[in-house]
Amino acid sequence: MARQSLLEFTDKGIYCSKGKFYIDPWKPVDDAVITHAHADHAYFGNKHYLAHHFSKEVLLYRLGDIQLQTVAYGEKVMKNGVEISLHPAGHVIGSAQVRVEYQGEVWVVSGDYKVEDDGISTPFEPIRCNHFISECTFGMPVYKWKPQIQVFNDINSWSCNNLQHGLATVLVGYSLGKAQRILQNLDLSNGKVYTHGVIENTNEALRRNGILLNPTERITSDTAKDEVRKGIIIAPPSSVGSPWMRKFQPYSFGYCSGWMAIRGAKRRRAADRGFVLSDHADWDGLISAIDATGCESVYLTHGYTASFTRYLNEIGFDAHEVHTLYGNDEDPGITEEAPAFSGNESASPQPSPLERELDSGANQVPSFGEDLGEAEAGGSA
Ligand SMILES: [Zn+2]
Ligand SMILES: [Zn+2]
Repeated sequence: MARQSLLEFTDKGIYCSKGKFYIDPWKPVDDAVITHAHADHAYFGNKHYLAHHFSKEVLLYRLGDIQLQTVAYGEKVMKNGVEISLHPAGHVIGSAQVRVEYQGEVWVVSGDYKVEDDGISTPFEPIRCNHFISECTFGMPVYKWKPQIQVFNDINSWSCNNLQHGLATVLVGYSLGKAQRILQNLDLSNGKVYTHGVIENTNEALRRNGILLNPTERITSDTAKDEVRKGIIIAPPSSVGSPWMRKFQPYSFGYCSGWMAIRGAKRRRAADRGFVLSDHADWDGLISAIDATGCESVYLTHGYTASFTRYLNEIGFDAHEVHTLYGNDEDPGITEEAPAFSGNESASPQPSPLERELDSGANQVPSFGEDLGEAEAGGSA
């Protein structure tokens, strides 16, 4: 009988039967190792959670009073004889790849990752392994990110220009990750930074965790609108087109997402500017990251899994497509517009149930919940 694989794919998530724990399970389990705090990776209802120190306060904020153990990158934890350690994934603050080792066999689960140093998340580190489980959200050659310095130069000159033309600047990005990346890389001489409540709640959780963020001011009903209009507003996707946002008219609204690389995405989001800024690896980033693991086999969990798996097999990897419930934290509504891979229709990413739910019936604005935790945990303010 073939030896059982150290990690396997089950209907609850990625499972280690030797160690009796799951990684990013989407159904309640006893023992969950969490790569990062986005809603499609960190579900409510598990008995015990293990995550990185920097995820602590955001997880408590989003999931409530959970039983949570946190560790540093590289720190080893034993579960039933299986060694677990977390390593930087560079996706958002506190995001981790999970390395699992038993009797010399090593598996790494990437969670979500990007290879560019964003200046705020601990930079991605490639980990050697026998088997690598990878995301491939942007696993198409059309996705090639510019260095973020160029994107922020564009953002800064656009916001400067808005100010000169009497327009308020509204930058939209999801509340955990993109919002802080924007905040830390903006030219603050263009104005004070104001935040939507959902984003400020996440900022506060991160500050409780000891993360140093640039100063922000939460927008409340008492905030003077004229002052806000002279500054820079950071808002979550869920606020687009809302009465909350309309209060700041006239404004120019810029949307920060990897999906902005697709023609039509900006228009569909009714954005004045689309800034291609992603917390996921682009095509080259994915291939270089997978190659750097030296793995014997690679499993693709979410994104353009079918076409990307096929491509990796063509260039000599032993690649396998697997079905998971990990969604897309960038902006699920946009994936439907994504271009096909070499004209092959099976190339479109499989929309997860989460994505379908988000997009169904959303004839107008709110198919924007790239990150469901916001609606659940944050409320809108
Ligand atoms: Zn994520
Ligand atoms: Zn993901």
